[in-house]
Amino acid sequence: MTSIFTKIVNGEIPSAKVYEDDLTLAFLDINPASLGHTLVICKPELPSLLDLSPDLLLATTRTTQLVARALMAALEPDGFNILQNNGSAAGQVVFHYHVHIIPRWNSDRVLTPWHPGSASPSDLRDTAALIAAQVSKE
Ligand code: AMP
Repeated sequence: MTSIFTKIVNGEIPSAKVYEDDLTLAFLDINPASLGHTLVICKPELPSLLDLSPDLLLATTRTTQLVARALMAALEPDGFNILQNNGSAAGQVVFHYHVHIIPRWNSDRVLTPWHPGSASPSDLRDTAALIAAQVSKE
């Protein structure tokens, strides 16, 4: 099934475009969390971070930085969040890789911070060992 973002790439539905190159596209989120909330996508329809080639990941990251710089200059927020959801458990709704750039103003309460948990040093060591063992197989 063609994603809504592929339809934007193909010009089948409109978008408020801010940047485009061969591999990436940036446009405003239709339901912005804050003024200037921008989505950066890779043009190929790939569901998540795990599916991107290094070249595509680099291109998307470069576009994210380019647009974030432009957005900071144009709208002068106090900061910005980069948010990137993978999987419905993480809040992903559109399964076409995209990065959110969310401008932030002091005390705007646009995003709720997570509740810091706790873990013992041995918990941290055990969990890190599980992940590190997989990293070495990648
Ligand atoms: P996510 O939850 O990370 O999958 O975010 C998907 C985002 O896409 C949401 O913030 C939506 O508001 C946004 N979105 C969905 N359809 C469109 C559209 N046609 N144009 C711009 N943004 C869209």
